[in-house]
Amino acid sequence: MPGGTDLTLRPFLWRAEKLYSDQEIVSRTSEGITRYDYAEYADRVAQLANALDELGIEEGDRVGTFCWNQHLHFETYFAAPSMGAQLHTINPLLPAEHIRYIVDNAEDKVLFVDPSLLPALEPAVQSPEFDHVKQFVVMASEVPETDLDVVAYEEFIAGHDTEYDWPDVSEDQPAGMCYTSGTTGRPKGVEYTQKMLWAHTMESLTPQGIPMADDDVVMPVVPMFHVNAWGMPFTATAAGAKQVFPGPSPDPADLAGLIEEEGVTITAGVPTVWLGLMDYCKNNDVDISSLDTVIVGGSAAPRSMVEWFDDRDIELLHAWGMTEMAPIGSVAHLKSDLESADYETQVDHRVKQGLIVPGLEFKVLDDDGEEIAWDGEEFGELLVRGPSVTTEYFERPEANEEDFEDGWLRTGDVVTVDPEGYLKIVDRAKDVIKSGGEWISSVELENAIMAHDDVAEATVIGVPHEKWQERPVAFVVPVEGADRDAIPEGVMDLLREEYPKWWLPDDVVFIDEVPKTATGKFSKKDLREQYTDMEAFEGKTPDDAAPEQDD
Ligand code: ADP
Repeated sequence: MPGGTDLTLRPFLWRAEKLYSDQEIVSRTSEGITRYDYAEYADRVAQLANALDELGIEEGDRVGTFCWNQHLHFETYFAAPSMGAQLHTINPLLPAEHIRYIVDNAEDKVLFVDPSLLPALEPAVQSPEFDHVKQFVVMASEVPETDLDVVAYEEFIAGHDTEYDWPDVSEDQPAGMCYTSGTTGRPKGVEYTQKMLWAHTMESLTPQGIPMADDDVVMPVVPMFHVNAWGMPFTATAAGAKQVFPGPSPDPADLAGLIEEEGVTITAGVPTVWLGLMDYCKNNDVDISSLDTVIVGGSAAPRSMVEWFDDRDIELLHAWGMTEMAPIGSVAHLKSDLESADYETQVDHRVKQGLIVPGLEFKVLDDDGEEIAWDGEEFGELLVRGPSVTTEYFERPEANEEDFEDGWLRTGDVVTVDPEGYLKIVDRAKDVIKSGGEWISSVELENAIMAHDDVAEATVIGVPHEKWQERPVAFVVPVEGADRDAIPEGVMDLLREEYPKWWLPDDVVFIDEVPKTATGKFSKKDLREQYTDMEAFEGKTPDDAAPEQDD
């Protein structure tokens, strides 16, 4: 029986409202900067719940959102789950065909849309996939021009009571949902129960997670449509922290401005975001000294980034996670016995994916299903389990069979574990290059190549090879104005210093940009497809000059 003692999200909001009623929530929207406090926020969350009630949204119904990081989106974060409904955040950067599939598969009953995202939604909306959507609500005070039948958010909640009789929701009730971008096949739905989100919030709040307190100013740059912005809106509310939402497509200038004006202390996002900010800081006079911590995840944080922030007395915390894990799984905090180690050794550990957060367990299995040694050398596939980790996909039995094993999630990440317990991703299982039966880590090669001064971005894929089955080929985006002719040899020299000769790519191919997935990660799948048509590249074609490898 559900009761007031179940592990649910609502008490986090209750606490913020009671203890931190005048703590600020700041939001950048297409209409400008909005600011209010937790007291007003809680009133509006109740109004929204009443409006959803009137629309006929019931326990278990899905409330879809198609929005950037802004306060109205944040209002749906507590309103929908606390009334027993399910918040389904949709990635607007997905192709229309995926959006149609996702809305249809989840049977969303109502859809909240950011005004700036209407042009992305309109082409996706088609009958019958969208027939269960009773109402489109535009996150604005007035309705912009659109072919869809929409109501403005402010009109939708206007006049509704600022109190709501919140039900006792079961901890097993699905509270959230997010689809993984589906690098292979259709996107897979992950449902987050109340308990999973509660557990994720508490795991995050520990000193070994991404701790925050009531004197923090928290700005998630990672999108709220992608795994709840790594749970930060929930964590920050639980901590009673000030929250800053950076709004639609924030560029480095927007981010730097918000950090400076709002005194942001903690922010989080993928490496690309910080590369943009670092570049902006180089050329502009901005003060980001309010920052204490920058959480970097989604893809590996480069060493140079850790050092850049260290130089400014800002801690870069490298985190690893997955949609299936709500999402944070490990954070590269320094263990206390490493505090006295030299700087290089410390950074060696901080650029790893880190230590599993309290509450979760992991094991790493080799090809024979045996657990690997924690020696930083052996590697295998990482499996995890715990209260914030899902044990199945929504309506995808065939994917369940592949990705779950006796209650453990198979992450698809190939890792080493050092004697201290730090996890290090050496590749995605499907991206590992197997050359003559031996493994080559594409991730390691990429990171090493990106350390070259004239390389802006680089990625490495395995291409079929008659003798060695697969050989690595590097794809490089040169920095502007670089001496392109010197890059391939420069890159090879760099790699020769660290890796055996059979790890060296057979070729270095120039491209204008690395294709990215909807979540901003390098899309090797697209590159593999493009590679079959080499004319797409202005660079060289691969020859058969693979460095000799011992048989
Ligand atoms: P998708 O991008 O497929 O939607 P996720 O956002 O769930 O999926 O991505 C999860 C994957 O992202 C992980 O399994 C891992 O491969 C990669 N990843 C996440 N964080 C890191 C990190 N800090 N370093 C390297 N890879 C990471």
